Amino acid sequence: MTKNLVPHWISGARDNGTSDRTAPVFDPALGTETKRVVLANQADIEKAISTADAAFPEWRDTSIARRQAILFNFRELLNAKKGELAEILTSEHGKVLSDALGEISRGQEVVEFACGIPHLVKGSFTENASTGVDVYSIHQPLGVVGVISPFNFPAMVPMWFFPIAIAAGNTVVLKPSEKDPSAAIWLGELWKEAGLPDGVFTVLNGDKESVDGLLTDPRVHAISFVGSTPIAQYVYETGAKNGKRVQALGGAKNHMLVLPDADLDLVADSAINAGFGSAGERCMAISVVVAVEPVADALIEKITARMRGLVIGDGRRSCDMGPLVTEQHRDKVASYIDIAIADGADVVVDGRGIEVDGDPNGFWLGPTLIDKVPTTSKVYTEEIFGPVLSIVRVKTFAEGVALINNGAFGNGTAIFTNDGGAARRFQNEVQVGMIGINVPIPVPVAYYSFGGWKASLFGDSKAHGMYGVNFYTQEKTMTSRWLDPSHGGINLGFPQN
Ligand code: NAD
Repeated sequence: MTKNLVPHWISGARDNGTSDRTAPVFDPALGTETKRVVLANQADIEKAISTADAAFPEWRDTSIARRQAILFNFRELLNAKKGELAEILTSEHGKVLSDALGEISRGQEVVEFACGIPHLVKGSFTENASTGVDVYSIHQPLGVVGVISPFNFPAMVPMWFFPIAIAAGNTVVLKPSEKDPSAAIWLGELWKEAGLPDGVFTVLNGDKESVDGLLTDPRVHAISFVGSTPIAQYVYETGAKNGKRVQALGGAKNHMLVLPDADLDLVADSAINAGFGSAGERCMAISVVVAVEPVADALIEKITARMRGLVIGDGRRSCDMGPLVTEQHRDKVASYIDIAIADGADVVVDGRGIEVDGDPNGFWLGPTLIDKVPTTSKVYTEEIFGPVLSIVRVKTFAEGVALINNGAFGNGTAIFTNDGGAARRFQNEVQVGMIGINVPIPVPVAYYSFGGWKASLFGDSKAHGMYGVNFYTQEKTMTSRWLDPSHGGINLGFPQN
């Protein structure tokens, strides 16, 4: 048996499955393959879905008080042990430890939200809707739900979904990214320790074959997907064709509009944090600064001064930014620097060949700043998903907003200004799902919902908050009458009063 094999998590236990296919898992800061992850075959997919399906009836009928108690246990354990999980994230994704802890905290928020499940799934009751007739509603779980997650948040993105789905009485099959799958297994073990019955939370490791299995199996009732736009669109269409509820969150290209009255020190700090945090591998990263002239030159000076102080290296050391997730992804991101040069942009800081505090074989690419990026260039139109920040110069506020609105994506955006009227007009006119006002990464807290517009979200449900509760439950409405002595006999019309 292969050493360091990342298995599935089925029926509350590690399970190596029966497939002979595996994929490499790297430590990106070392540039070496440290593990291999199993890639499920049809028998493994069947086992994962059927155990989740078998666990559903009992979990659905488990009291809300008991489900809530397990959620509280999970929250306490997660909070106590998050250092362990952060180390796993850093060793497979590459993000620095402090950022890994931040990711876990944002996921933990959703667990805390889901601890309020008794209130969240309450139905409603109307007495005497008609004479002697009561109408009331209840919210019931769906059954098995699938969660398919991307590499960039191996803990937080699954936690956007499974705490609410499980609290509401569903059973979950999570298909993590094959690039960093160990966090999901760790979370499975934590659920077991928290007292979750076997089969309620399953991890199915795999690739397209597993995704297609979840999308087509009639026992799976809903799919929550997060990943790149082309796959999100495929997942949405295939899942919907197979009669499932689907929420499929896709890619992004987030702009930061800087007005001339903005505090440029705040803007420069924010551009650095939001452009290069997690090596730019965040769907809410800022990848384009839209500078309303005459601010661009002064802003670039402030940004470059800060870039000189950034320490790039192994996330286990005291660094600001780690490596990219794989060599292939690093090379793809770096190729945009050549495209920028060919398209006539001005590469102000080139992140290739930087010095790092880490192993020379790591998948490194330093923070890169590109000015005067033509909006026809692929550097502007495509999602790069790395530490490459573009500057586009515009003459007016209106030109900046039009540019943002012409983009294919609508995930997040930010405006930096001290003019409340301009900020208000921006929030009103911009065609984007999540807006920051002097805040660069406007990820909503757990009791609001996360999701973009346009090519950043397929389906009509955002993640977590009340959207999440509604997505994982279906409403049943009852109309009831208990006969009493005043019962009025036969009446074939609708009741009038
Ligand atoms: P990805 O689309 O390559 O993979 C996402 C998931 O889909 C993985 O589990 C993967 O195994 C699976 N998958 C890959 N190819 C598939 C195929 N052909 N058929 C079926 N399934 C397939 O995305 P990624 O590279 O892991 O993650 C980065 C992307 O995710 C970026 O585009 C980023 O913007 C996006 N993202 C979006 C959000 C959001 O909330 N909108 C959040 C995080 C990441």
